[in-house]
Amino acid sequence: MGPFERAEIIAAGSELLTPHRIDTNSLFLTARLNELGVVVGGKCVVGDRKADLALVFRQALERADVVIISGGLGPTADDVTRDAVAEVLERPLEEHADILDTIRERFARRGARMPEINRRQAMVPAGAVPLANAVGTAPGLMIETANRLIVLLPGPPRELRPMFEAFVAPRIARDAGGRMLRRRVVKVTGRSESQVEELSQPVYSTFGASGVEMDTTILAAPGQIELHVSAIGADPAQIDRALDDAVGRLEAAIGSPVFSTDGRALEAVVGDLLRTKGWRVAAAESCTGGGLLSRLTEVPGSSGWVIGGIVAYANDVKIDQLGVPADLIAGHGAVSEPVAQAMAEGVRRKLGADIGVGITGIAGPDGGSPEKPVGTVAIAVCGGTTRARTFLFPGDRDAIRRHATSAALEMMRQDLLGQNL
Ligand code: AMP
Ligand code: MG
Repeated sequence: MGPFERAEIIAAGSELLTPHRIDTNSLFLTARLNELGVVVGGKCVVGDRKADLALVFRQALERADVVIISGGLGPTADDVTRDAVAEVLERPLEEHADILDTIRERFARRGARMPEINRRQAMVPAGAVPLANAVGTAPGLMIETANRLIVLLPGPPRELRPMFEAFVAPRIARDAGGRMLRRRVVKVTGRSESQVEELSQPVYSTFGASGVEMDTTILAAPGQIELHVSAIGADPAQIDRALDDAVGRLEAAIGSPVFSTDGRALEAVVGDLLRTKGWRVAAAESCTGGGLLSRLTEVPGSSGWVIGGIVAYANDVKIDQLGVPADLIAGHGAVSEPVAQAMAEGVRRKLGADIGVGITGIAGPDGGSPEKPVGTVAIAVCGGTTRARTFLFPGDRDAIRRHATSAALEMMRQDLLGQNL
């Protein structure tokens, strides 16, 4: 059989169609399949109805070499995966003696008798190979047809993951034709998704020349764009060369807004720069309410470069704690570059930092005006030099606050790099 190139994942479980539970198994399975060189061509979540599961399973079989179904292997009537799979494959359900013994023993070890309903778990499509479950009662099942690998795994992630590693990964690796997928992430800030896409397009168009199969996806979040570049091939050295080359050319095309190509978050990049320079930071935050310091202190070791800060929400705090002149606020408004700068200078002085940051803005939904609409944020950084900027961020309150902390981190990064343009 094989090579296995394309997989589909079906997450079975009505609870996954409520707002209370999310399908995380497919994320784990996708990551592992990709590492094994298998592309996930589709996935879906389906409720505990045999006819629905049978329909999506039938479709998946038409498109993929590997179909993985998670969930619905328990003993109760809503666990319909075995039945649906048997029906679609036109294989009878047969009682599997070994599975029955294993489940009986599991109960016996705890001094209990196996409830009769657990017998269902030993009824499996003919020819299915059981996968031992070290953690729970539901065994997994693997079925090989002439040209398909079908894997049924229990829903609980702590049962599914070890079972995938022990039985499924080795089986796929054997027929993956020695192919593997590797991925790099290029992180960009201060540019929109379409700007990044436009700058990257000429680089994408050269990917065909690399000799390995390459692909990119673009992920946008407030204040950050990620380019995920993946390469599939048989020769790891060739894959790494192609990825190094692609990342190098993307960095050159996009320029200084690229802040990381090694997975580090913006706050970690800034932390590393502070550590290298031996500088310590203090922040005065109004509309972000401590969000910048929260991100800076997510980084392990940040006590080495973060002093602290003042959440200066009310004007009184800006004036009394940070020494912002009252007439500056009266003259320019609390959301203004002069006030942001006075906040940055004030907190640097008060806490004895090397670099000070001031953030003041209107996160909304109320408080906007025609001159200063919701999303207006003034940010100042005083480090190597002093610089203040006014931004107009899009989105709701959460997005604006997130944008503001990213912009402040980016202004810090530029100051620390001496790129204060
Ligand atoms: P089941 O194997 O269908 O009996 O699933 C048992 C439990 O596993 C469910 O109640 C969920 O809490 C969890 N579960 C099932 N499917 C998933 C999934 N796709 N992702 C994460 N957890 C799941
Ligand atoms: Mg279920």
